Amino acid sequence: MASAKGPGRHKRGKRPPRQGEDGGHQRPALTEDALPPVAWRRHALWGSLLLLLLALLGTAMVLARQFQENQMQHRLEREAEQLVGDIRTGLTRNVQTLQSLNFRQRSPGEWEGPALEVLEQNREMAVLEWRDRQLRVLASRISPFHGEALAQRPRHERRQDVATACAQAKRTSAPAYSPSYFWPQGDGRGQEMMEMCLPKFQHGELEGYLVASYALPGLLSELLEPAAARGLALSLTEVDGTHLAMAGTRPEGAMLSAEHLLELPGHVLMLRIIRPRDQSELTPWSVTGLVVGMSALMLAVLALLARDMRLRLAAERGLAEALAFRQAMENSLVTGLRARDMQGRITYVNPAFCDMVGMTAGQLLGTSTPAPYWPADMVNEYQQRQAIRLAGQTLPREGFESVFVRSDGSRFPVLIIEAPLINAQGIQTGWMSAILDLTEQHQVEAQSRASQEKLQATARLAMLGEMASLLSHEINQPLSAIASYASGTLNLLSQPQADGTQAWQDMTQAMQRIREQAERAGRVTHSVSNFVRRRGQAQGLRREPVSPQALVQAILPLLNLQARKEGIRVVVDLPTDCPDALCDHTMVEQVLLNLARNGMQAMADDHPPAASGLRVLTIRAQPHASQQGKTWLMFSVTDHGIGLSPEVASQLFTPFFTTKPEGTGLGLSLCRTVVEQHGGALVHAPASPCGTVFRFTLPAVSPTAPVQASTA
Ligand code: ADP
Repeated sequence: MASAKGPGRHKRGKRPPRQGEDGGHQRPALTEDALPPVAWRRHALWGSLLLLLLALLGTAMVLARQFQENQMQHRLEREAEQLVGDIRTGLTRNVQTLQSLNFRQRSPGEWEGPALEVLEQNREMAVLEWRDRQLRVLASRISPFHGEALAQRPRHERRQDVATACAQAKRTSAPAYSPSYFWPQGDGRGQEMMEMCLPKFQHGELEGYLVASYALPGLLSELLEPAAARGLALSLTEVDGTHLAMAGTRPEGAMLSAEHLLELPGHVLMLRIIRPRDQSELTPWSVTGLVVGMSALMLAVLALLARDMRLRLAAERGLAEALAFRQAMENSLVTGLRARDMQGRITYVNPAFCDMVGMTAGQLLGTSTPAPYWPADMVNEYQQRQAIRLAGQTLPREGFESVFVRSDGSRFPVLIIEAPLINAQGIQTGWMSAILDLTEQHQVEAQSRASQEKLQATARLAMLGEMASLLSHEINQPLSAIASYASGTLNLLSQPQADGTQAWQDMTQAMQRIREQAERAGRVTHSVSNFVRRRGQAQGLRREPVSPQALVQAILPLLNLQARKEGIRVVVDLPTDCPDALCDHTMVEQVLLNLARNGMQAMADDHPPAASGLRVLTIRAQPHASQQGKTWLMFSVTDHGIGLSPEVASQLFTPFFTTKPEGTGLGLSLCRTVVEQHGGALVHAPASPCGTVFRFTLPAVSPTAPVQASTA
């Protein structure tokens, strides 16, 4: 048988870690130590994502705002362009009005009336003048709305501006405008004015000019009244930005402005319109709302993702713990575990199995039949056995025994318990086997078998010895009786003078006694050997009902023989109503004989009782009822000898304990065993006034119950 501690076997717990011995499973490196950097990286990623989202949101807001501002600016610029168009249209309409005034051939006196009408209808015009070719004023009307202002300064101061405009008008034969100029109104106030000169032709000949003086503030307020009403601040400036006139109120705070050139023949002005920046308009709710809504949705998705991630992390941690627990369990197992797929290829082995066969997981995984741990000469047998077992699907629950071979070539017995491997979908994917190394168990069994055999041999020897000792002890009595009857007979034969008839009778009686004792010796031998053999086989004694008288009578001749020798009187006290004892009568007779003989020896000459009247040995029997209502018979043997010292009393029933030079020390030990095998008890007590009383009980036959011989 192979040794359990063959090479390649390690003590559990001291086994060095082997590469690839985790059964080939690729396990994620999920350990507590690895978590902090991963957690840090994960937090950094989440932080970056959040920052990016916020940046995206901010950029979207700014872009939306800029887009809105651009839109507003563009609208304002279009409005400025439209207002310039309005001014131009107004001026053109005025030119047409003035042309119609020119065409009517009137005298200066007649001209003034319609001119005044024109001035009243067009408040932007401050003065209308009819001038001749040399720019001399033929007729002139001042607008009733501007009269006072214009009265402050002499008109000739504007002559140069009028001349400039009219020179261009003459050149182009079309209306022309002069540059603007400031017309003071006293006390530091004044207004910007601009001249418009319209040439007047008669039959193709320049006849004169119609000069209209425009007040620029009036121009703005009259021509662009609707715009001012809309809250726009309008201003006219020179191209270089010099402020000229203004209409409407310049708004406070944030504002938007747009400019557009007002190109007039002879002069260019700039119209500037200003409007307050409307914050409500600036908040592009549609775009912002969209961005904010989407961002909120994205944040919600992020929150859900984070929650999902947390759950996943918790699950991963749980999985890592479960894996660590499983690995610890696998490493601590002494049972080998092996998994095979449906084709018989090994898919998993635990460290205990690797230890068992002395191979690494790498050497075992993926191998099919014949397995590397199968004995070469048993491959065919194993293959057939496996095919039958797996095809029949009959796996013995208690497993089956087999023999494996280690990498060093040594064989060892194993117990294999197999079960189908079912996956999560309930489909069988292979077989899982638990393998127990039976080497040590087999050794223990062999040892126990050997020691059992040894024990049995020793028990047989002991029984033999005990039987020999008991026989020598119990056979002594009849032998010494036979010897004394034989001596008596010899005495009679050596006395020829004696009465022949009497002597003949005595000798016949002696010979009868010798025969009785010889028969008794035979019974004792048979009974003792029976007793010892049955006790060895744990069987009971053969029991039969025997009367107490019969028991005592059987041993009385022997007792009397010894009593006469010692000068002891034997008293037998047996009430007639005593029930029969249910017992092995020969053995019980031996008990009584042993107790009586011990009593007589205690009263022998070398231990005389205090009074000669006490040389009496009393044998009694009486019924004795137990608490369970069972009837017992109690025997007592009383002597008045030396009694029991405490040392003797403590070893009384120890086999081979004796105080007598020729004693065997087996008598009391046998007595107690016999009594106890009957279910009774043997006790002793001091007798009065001296000596010892031994009492023992035996089951009695109940007077009502039918009695049969039995073995207990
Ligand atoms: P044996 O009689 O061969 O010595 P036993 O087992 O019958 O063996 O007795 C053991 C010892 O017990 C005796 O040697 C004796 O010393 C003591 N003994 C037995 N019976 C009595 C008795 N009635 N009175 C005093 N001593 C006794």
